[in-house]
Amino acid sequence: MARIVQKFGGTSVGDVERIKIVALKVKAEIDRGNEIAVVLSAMSGETNRLVGLVNEMGSLYDAREYDSVVATGEQVTIGLLALALQDLGVSARSWLGWQLPFHTDDVHAKARIQKIDVDELNKRMKTGEVPVVAGFQGIGPDNRITTLGRGGSDTSAVALAAALGADRCDIYTDVDGVYTSDPRIVTKARKLDRITYEEMLEMASLGAKVLQTRAVEMAMKYGQRIQVLSSFEDKPGTLVVDEEEIVEKELVSGIAYSRDEAKITLVRVSDKPGVAAAIFGPLSDASVNVDMIVQNESVGGKATDLTFTVTQADLERAVKTLEKHSDDIGYEKIHSDDNVVKISVVGVGMRSHAGVAQRMFVTLAEKGINIQVISTSEIKVSVLIDEEYTELALRALHTAYGLDAA
Ligand code: ASP
Ligand code: MG
Repeated sequence: MARIVQKFGGTSVGDVERIKIVALKVKAEIDRGNEIAVVLSAMSGETNRLVGLVNEMGSLYDAREYDSVVATGEQVTIGLLALALQDLGVSARSWLGWQLPFHTDDVHAKARIQKIDVDELNKRMKTGEVPVVAGFQGIGPDNRITTLGRGGSDTSAVALAAALGADRCDIYTDVDGVYTSDPRIVTKARKLDRITYEEMLEMASLGAKVLQTRAVEMAMKYGQRIQVLSSFEDKPGTLVVDEEEIVEKELVSGIAYSRDEAKITLVRVSDKPGVAAAIFGPLSDASVNVDMIVQNESVGGKATDLTFTVTQADLERAVKTLEKHSDDIGYEKIHSDDNVVKISVVGVGMRSHAGVAQRMFVTLAEKGINIQVISTSEIKVSVLIDEEYTELALRALHTAYGLDAA
């Protein structure tokens, strides 16, 4: 017997018919002899609708009341699923975040889970009762409803699985797993059987929006195994696991990309101590997240160009901040460009192998694609290129690293 937390996303509980199908999936696991707890999202589109209502009230809202409104979507789905399960003869009851409770901090609208009380659930699960738990919500130290940030029910599910000591947390969604690249662009992309937490974090933060990043971080921290699978098909998905569980490590597991990049170049910045601090200090004070950075050494030691990337949403704020501090920094001109894309090859195998970056550079060169900025980490090599070449670069790299489906 295994203990499994099953999490179903918005499309899986999008209407009453689908909720009945979810009930059958839960019952199928119970019939296999497993002990089940369920975590649900709101019906697809519902949280957006609720956020819209809050916005209609005016732009200056109280985040505590925002939480009280947007947390209601999940209350509907858990009640309906409990009913559907009872209909199938399964003993089930719904639980809101505050009823367990899920204790969180008081950062309303993006709260973090601190602790979950599961004594009562443990007792009831032993008698065969299935808890159907609202994702995305908890209760803060001020005794008020909190929500965990959009997509937060993944994190609820992983946290509950860890607290219950579950063998697995199955995340049912509208894709059937994690792919070697975006299958909409790279038609030869393959579904991965397994991926490590660290690789998944890189893929997730690069736009493979299968799981909320925080959910993966939490799974990594507690060693909680996750499976990502489709609620519309009956087949295994992708397991997200600790590196030690993967015997045959691929050199590269996936090629990810992010279009949400913008490049800023400061032309002729003086080359002297303190300049980087004068640039990145004010940017960080303005909450601008800087990602890739390149600086050349200056010829003759006077001035050099400095290029870095930010998200598109931060571009305008970054440029304004730099203009405001132009006297302290000292530069000739600012150029910015948001027609860029970041392409990354990701794999834990590259820790122990040389030549991964070189293969990337050669492949792009053969396609005549110019690399504007490069950055590397232990398990990732990223390049910034012209957005126009996104598809070409992804497909060429996918082939070059031997990832194409047969
Ligand atoms: N319903 C919430 C949202 O749409 C939480 C979730 O679905 O994960 O963000
Ligand atoms: Mg989601």
